[in-house]
Amino acid sequence: MTETDGYLRVNELKNALYCPRISYYTLCLNIDRETDLSKGGIREEQTTKHRMKRRKGALHAVHEGERHFDVALVSHSHKFVGRLDEMVETERGVYLIDYKDAERDYGYRAMQMLAYKVAAEEMGWTVLGCYIYAIPTQTYEEIAFKRAGLAQLEQLLQMLHAMIEGEACPPPAKQLGKCQVCQYARFCNDVF
Ligand code: SF4
Repeated sequence: MTETDGYLRVNELKNALYCPRISYYTLCLNIDRETDLSKGGIREEQTTKHRMKRRKGALHAVHEGERHFDVALVSHSHKFVGRLDEMVETERGVYLIDYKDAERDYGYRAMQMLAYKVAAEEMGWTVLGCYIYAIPTQTYEEIAFKRAGLAQLEQLLQMLHAMIEGEACPPPAKQLGKCQVCQYARFCNDVF
């Protein structure tokens, strides 16, 4: 279940960007098809988190800060919650870091990170920078947000809240390639 008391989880943005119908299955029908692959990814992130906590000098991109792990963030104005992997608190503000187990970015990272940034700022933090830590390569990538990013995030959140409210099933993905590798494929009789 990824929706509680009307609040969405930041992780849901990834599904919605891939295909809003997946969000419908998980949020409206409570069908959560966690794959061995995604379970493996979660395990990998947890192992990394454990390792990173012990490595004091691990964060080469940010210095002189106090590290916080698994930071709960909430945006009441946009009604979503999230748990950020790491926040580095400095005298001037904070840096946000999210760990990812896959090297390839399918376009979800910037949107999820923007959501974390929006929530952190709403909670009163000054956000100085946002980074992805790629577990396979052990490298940091600074996220640069597009000008239209905030409007796109708000549009996506509005679409999800409206979909939950109306319990309306969205149209299928336009790219058949997405459906061919989708773990929800057998539910979409109108596609195959
Ligand atoms: S099979 Fe296609 S339309 Fe159905 S949920 Fe997956 S990506 Fe979306």
